Amino acid sequence: MKINFKFDNSYTQLTSMMMAKVMPAKVKLPKLVLLNYDLAEKLGLNFSSLDEKQVAELFTGNTLPEGANPIAQAYAGHQFGHLTILGDGRAIVLGEHITPTNQRYDIQFKGSGRTPYSRGGDGKAALGPMLREYIISEAMYHLNIRTTRSLAVTTTGENVMRETVLPGAILTRVAESHIRVGTFEYVAIKRDIQTLKKLLQYSIDRHYPEIKDLDKQAPEFLKLVMERQIDLITDWMRVGFIHGVMNTDNMSISGESIDFGPCAFMDYYNPKTVFSSIDHHGRYAFGNQPSIAQWNLARLADALLPLLDEDQNKAIEVGEEIIHSFKEKYEIKFHKMMKKKLGLITDEVDDVILIQELLDTMEKNKLDYTNTFRDLMNDKVNNETLKIFKDKWKIRIDKQNRSHEEVLTLMRNNNPVVIPRNHKVEESLKEAHKGNLVSFNNLLNALKDPYTERNNLALYQQPAPETDKKYKTFCGT
Ligand code: AMP
Ligand code: MG
Repeated sequence: MKINFKFDNSYTQLTSMMMAKVMPAKVKLPKLVLLNYDLAEKLGLNFSSLDEKQVAELFTGNTLPEGANPIAQAYAGHQFGHLTILGDGRAIVLGEHITPTNQRYDIQFKGSGRTPYSRGGDGKAALGPMLREYIISEAMYHLNIRTTRSLAVTTTGENVMRETVLPGAILTRVAESHIRVGTFEYVAIKRDIQTLKKLLQYSIDRHYPEIKDLDKQAPEFLKLVMERQIDLITDWMRVGFIHGVMNTDNMSISGESIDFGPCAFMDYYNPKTVFSSIDHHGRYAFGNQPSIAQWNLARLADALLPLLDEDQNKAIEVGEEIIHSFKEKYEIKFHKMMKKKLGLITDEVDDVILIQELLDTMEKNKLDYTNTFRDLMNDKVNNETLKIFKDKWKIRIDKQNRSHEEVLTLMRNNNPVVIPRNHKVEESLKEAHKGNLVSFNNLLNALKDPYTERNNLALYQQPAPETDKKYKTFCGT
């Protein structure tokens, strides 16, 4: 029996200034913590011929799979608005695995040692944040939201020094690619038009082949990346996900959610919600995510300027026109999404007002975002304040003359009944840190079917107790 890795490392064909060849650092005592069998199967991979030690060797990089050609990718990024040259400082792309159905995925180690882009960092990762990325990315996947996924977590047997000494770990991440807005910014800063053209061509071939044969590709590319980001942010807004660090280096060209550092799910509804300890001004607050996505896309437009049109004045015009269309496009999609959450199938002019009334009511009364929709679905609205809304909503529902089943199905497909609540995630990570993965795996299992109401979920449906109101998240470093 073979593992079936089939590498084809097309990224390494790009200009050499875009990457550095680096081997993952050998680790002292590789140990497997988690292996995602479901994902392995989807990738056409099979590890049953290996014993656990060999699997651990593989997912720490002590042994490399055949065909891997490890690189650290160069990129830049606007971090909290400031442009910096970055690059994979603690990550290494082993290569692109081609699945039996011909899909191409980056296989990346996170936490596998220093690279030329590590700057002052140690290139390492701690177990807690890697488990956190594992569980949140898997939760996102099962919520039907585009995301990178997690194939394995291993520990290295080495300590990493943070505020305290922590166990070192490596996450194996799977992504459609790791090309970021920041990758384009990096090439743009270098003012290397040939490489910029190559990167654009490469990104189109890999993610947007439908425009491969067009004459003016750059504007179409920008529009398509924007469409995917709008869809993604709309999905985040649907489930109350706060990314937490939407720097341009954390925005993927493929439209996947990526880099689950200080992210968290909102409990009671407030667009100003911020959990990240470093986001002092709420730049990446829940309600700011659409406008930040637009801002980031404007940085992509800046980077693409030389290719948007030969005449640079025209190029600016073209870029601005596309970026300015974001707001309207997003609002249409947001509105459609909210209508689905409320089971509204037909169109009524007052739907915008009805939706806003619900949002205002939730905010004013600090109602749990997830559970409010759940209560509406289950016809279990106890809250007096929500009753006023509910009566109006019921009238609106009756007006559309659709079967109860049809309405409920639509709502059920769009409103999760279980999300990775911060206090449950923390609780499971605390246990995992002591070597006990029971609560982690229980939570993970609950999150695998987030749209189905069933027994034994109550534990995961309660919002955090009052004492948790000051919940803080940290960048996964
Ligand atoms: P992040 O906030 O995880 O998106 O990381 C931002 C940048 O910092 C990326 O270029 C990372 O590769 C780099 N970085 C984060 N942690 C470390 C670390 N421990 N060692 C080296 N580089 C790091
Ligand atoms: Mg990052």
